Amino acid sequence: MPGTKLDSKLIEATTRFHGHWCPGLAIGVRAAELALEEVGKADDEDIVAIVETDMCGVDAIQYLVGCTLGKGNLIYRDYGKNAFTFIRRRDGKAVRFLTRPEIFGEAGEILGKLHKKLQAEGLSDEEQHLWQQTRAQLAKRVMESSLPEIFEFKPVREPVPPKARILASLFCEACGEPTMETRTRRLDGRVLCIPCSEAQEKISG
Ligand SMILES: [Zn+2]
Ligand SMILES: [Zn+2]
Repeated sequence: MPGTKLDSKLIEATTRFHGHWCPGLAIGVRAAELALEEVGKADDEDIVAIVETDMCGVDAIQYLVGCTLGKGNLIYRDYGKNAFTFIRRRDGKAVRFLTRPEIFGEAGEILGKLHKKLQAEGLSDEEQHLWQQTRAQLAKRVMESSLPEIFEFKPVREPVPPKARILASLFCEACGEPTMETRTRRLDGRVLCIPCSEAQEKISG
């Protein structure tokens, strides 16, 4: 029984939250669907999502699974991978899955070529039309495929992250701004915030 089982009203609401319908959001909707099946919805901080991409689909995970940046149960790792981890704290159940490259198929190749052309010299009306048509087809395909056709389960790589806590702040000794203690760095005996320590490393390095 391929295809999404999510209510169409819910998908419409997710689209409004994101701002537009696109293949990336479709991937996120299906990833959220798989997460809901595997670990359920995050009513509080019980479910933690770790996303390895900042693409459109993350909005679907926030909206549908309830893992959000503000609650501290959405963790972003800038790895540039279409991979999603979901952890349920209460029993430690965790899944990580990767989007199969095959799901993008020929559409992915067409979009890749058009994207290069778009950035280099822009698209003709005809190419613009092909771009939109291909994106719509790809999104449709993602919605109509079965979850195992879209995602491949992979071993979980990370331990359960600690709950968001209110931590002490230290004052950065360069800019003076209060900074969460765990985000400060020590450089030549001085306590610095991340941007100041990076600026310092550039000067000395
Ligand atoms: Zn989008
Ligand atoms: Zn600073």
